[in-house]
Amino acid sequence: MNGSNFQIEQQCPQCGAPIILDEADRILSCKFCRTRVYLATEDHFRFYIPPAEGISETVYFIPYWRLKGLSYAIKAHDISYTYFDANFISFDSSLLPYSLGLRPQAMKLKFVGNSDNKGKFIASFHMKEENLLKNFKTQPGADQEVFIGETASVIYTPVYCAQGRIYDAILKKPLDLQNKDAEIEQALISSPEEKWRVDFFPLLCPDCGADLPGEKDALILFCDNCHSAWNPSNKNFTKVKFLTWQEKGDNIIYLPFWQLKVKVSGIQLESYADLIKVANLPKAPVEVWTQTPFYFCAPAFKVNPALFLRWCRQLTSTPAPNDLTADFPAQKIHPATLPENEALKSSLLTLASLIADKRNLAELLSSLHLTLEDSSLVLHPFKISASELVHTKIGFGMEISALNMGAYL
Ligand SMILES: [Zn+2]
Ligand SMILES: [Zn+2]
Repeated sequence: MNGSNFQIEQQCPQCGAPIILDEADRILSCKFCRTRVYLATEDHFRFYIPPAEGISETVYFIPYWRLKGLSYAIKAHDISYTYFDANFISFDSSLLPYSLGLRPQAMKLKFVGNSDNKGKFIASFHMKEENLLKNFKTQPGADQEVFIGETASVIYTPVYCAQGRIYDAILKKPLDLQNKDAEIEQALISSPEEKWRVDFFPLLCPDCGADLPGEKDALILFCDNCHSAWNPSNKNFTKVKFLTWQEKGDNIIYLPFWQLKVKVSGIQLESYADLIKVANLPKAPVEVWTQTPFYFCAPAFKVNPALFLRWCRQLTSTPAPNDLTADFPAQKIHPATLPENEALKSSLLTLASLIADKRNLAELLSSLHLTLEDSSLVLHPFKISASELVHTKIGFGMEISALNMGAYL
């Protein structure tokens, strides 16, 4: 969907048929043998750009971090956003190219650990996403910048050494290393090797053994048989708490939203009544709201950035429903493609956007510390009309086409 996503070439683990995946895909399905498996990793995926044919020298693969997503900048009077797509070397050398350049966009990548590559993959620095992003700024002048929906992966590009020079193994051209080729070759030889490989997990419900259906980029899978939900991303399937705001009638589709119980240090934000006070919402206080727990809400699907924030605001400023049910057949659910930890980051944005008095906002925000205490995936009912989806309970709607535009996020 998104032009700037990479394509990945991978053989079917069952029958060996060649399959092309999108970078965001988590499910590999083979149309020849009908195998469906989940692609899993403990941290992030590692891909490589295949070298050109006919290189007999040892090929070294050099790691680059790739980060992609959306940056929201909180400023005094508004929240602006911009897309970013950055990559930079993860190897200690100031002479090797700092970034990958544009070429991989046009090439098909492969998973590291794929059996048909020979050569040495240099281990990349292991860093947490938040550390990678610590010094990363896209919007100068922002009080605070929040990154959501990042792809963090490592992409390897190949080089080889011949006649005392280091060559780019895609173009077969020598790199300009200011006559330090021998030094860099030594560094490549002595660097530790990466041992990562992608894992394939059968898509079976851990509770009842039924097949788990799901779109190829779904991060949460629902079992139609025993009505459970699973997060398979971490090499083992963990159960996801999910609740449904049920609706009767036809033409209903359920969209997933994260409902997050967040501890906000520095301000009292336990109940919905607290939110009214903190954000100065134009609502007359009702006794029951002092007993209504407050949750941050965020779409669990990708949608364009302005709409994402609107939904965060809209649902967070609506009192949490008290008629949610825990048992629900997994039908007509739009796939959840935004993980909980990304949704959590939106809480600060939502708060900034809801607080009416912006005078001391920058100070307030920088003093807050948000900790996730609990989360559920809540399925909200939407009525499908010709070109619109309308939330049947709160009447808020959006264009159907907006759901297909989120590939950036
Ligand atoms: Zn197959
Ligand atoms: Zn099941």
